[in-house]
Amino acid sequence: MTVVTRFAPSPTGELHLGHAYSARIAWQRAREAGGRFLLRIEDIDIRRSRREFEAAILEDLRWLGLDWDGEVRRQSEHFADYGRALDALDASGLIYPCFCTRADIAAATDAPHASLQGPDGPLYPGTCRHLPREERRSRLAVGEEHCLRLDAAKAAGEAGPYHFLDEARGRIEGQPMLFGDVVLARKDTPTSYHLAVTVDDHLQGVTLVTRGEDLLPSTHVHGLLQRLLGYETPRYAHHRLMTDAQGRRFAKRDRSLTLRALRESGKTPGDIFSLL
Ligand code: GLU
Repeated sequence: MTVVTRFAPSPTGELHLGHAYSARIAWQRAREAGGRFLLRIEDIDIRRSRREFEAAILEDLRWLGLDWDGEVRRQSEHFADYGRALDALDASGLIYPCFCTRADIAAATDAPHASLQGPDGPLYPGTCRHLPREERRSRLAVGEEHCLRLDAAKAAGEAGPYHFLDEARGRIEGQPMLFGDVVLARKDTPTSYHLAVTVDDHLQGVTLVTRGEDLLPSTHVHGLLQRLLGYETPRYAHHRLMTDAQGRRFAKRDRSLTLRALRESGKTPGDIFSLL
């Protein structure tokens, strides 16, 4: 089978050493297998994404010599694809509108013993899952702001048991309830990270997802969505995260570790790869 990998940065800042490490793994895995390495710009967060950052990402990758195959896919140009996936889930009764504000959710999850914890904090307590159909309809009719959530328990029933393969960790049983009723379309943008990544990896024919192990929990959601949408599940290679001398993860705040800054200080791509 041909190997298709991808690097999928969000254009909300400059690339740093951690990105170079991740991009290089994806590129190398594709190149050693004679496969394809794709570049995807994950710019669904329209408020935080900037074209300047996108241009800088492309330039940094070129400078590193990590050439990609085919066109760059920019997620903000594919909302219709995510919409089709939402329609399919809606047709199976697996999503529902949620009108809760952050404050509503905080109030509901603050009460002692009120909520289960997920990887990103308290799970959504399910308030809007129980709205009477009439109320739901009238709130939608007046255009009340809402996001769309997956009914995780129902989805889990529909999907049945599923698993994914992580190269370093082996077979991992899917935990459909790990993130609870995850958001699939946000109030401010008609998709979410989980949905867009799942749809794109499918549409782009990605066979091997290489990404940081901080995203391993998310793979439980992606595996579930793949099952529900009838997609193949790619292989996964969740790699360790690069950390600084204090053992902290590289983040956008570490300006001195951006590829830009390193390049300006005279480092060559060869120096960068030996730092990794
Ligand atoms: N866009 C995500 C990020 O920059 C990566 C998504 C993924 O690889 O699945 O962290």
